[in-house]
Amino acid sequence: MPSDIVPGRSCGNCTLCCKVLSIPELQKPRGAVCVHCDWRKGCKTYAQRPMPCRAFDCSYLLSPGLGEEWKPTTSHFVLGYVAEADIVLVFTDPDHAHAWRQEPYYSRIKRWAAPSDIGGYVVVWESARTLVLSGADEFDLGELRDDQTIVREEQPGPAGKKVVFYAADGRT
Ligand code: SF4
Ligand code: SF4
Repeated sequence: MPSDIVPGRSCGNCTLCCKVLSIPELQKPRGAVCVHCDWRKGCKTYAQRPMPCRAFDCSYLLSPGLGEEWKPTTSHFVLGYVAEADIVLVFTDPDHAHAWRQEPYYSRIKRWAAPSDIGGYVVVWESARTLVLSGADEFDLGELRDDQTIVREEQPGPAGKKVVFYAADGRT
């Protein structure tokens, strides 16, 4: 186990990332349990799992600042983080698509949406649709495909520059 895992934490009986993440190598869509998953036990092909599975540790495992209520088996969503752009990723369980809007989660997630010098926004896969939270704003990008990317753009407006987000074809 990598040394950056919070001491005492492990996946245990959680296998939620094997449901909520998209794994293109396996043609596995977001929100469907992977065919290789032994639900609540683990991966049946652990030694052969593809790179995205090997590379992923959720924020619950990596962030000592998140309490036990953030364990995906309790929260019903999985958190990721893109440090280079200060982007928080929220992958919801379609069976509990709005759990992230409940407390104690929502107010904390909204704080993460405060813009920073390098980005500072939150992307939520809420069942089929994708949302971007930025400051007080919520952008509904609809059904974002794996071959699309999220574009952040500053646009001029009567009250000065305004940041908008939209989906565009092609990966960056
Ligand atoms: S969501 Fe996190 S705790 Fe759950 S199986 Fe995946 S990495 Fe482990
Ligand atoms: S290959 Fe294994 S680790 Fe990867 S999504 Fe499927 S069950 Fe999970």
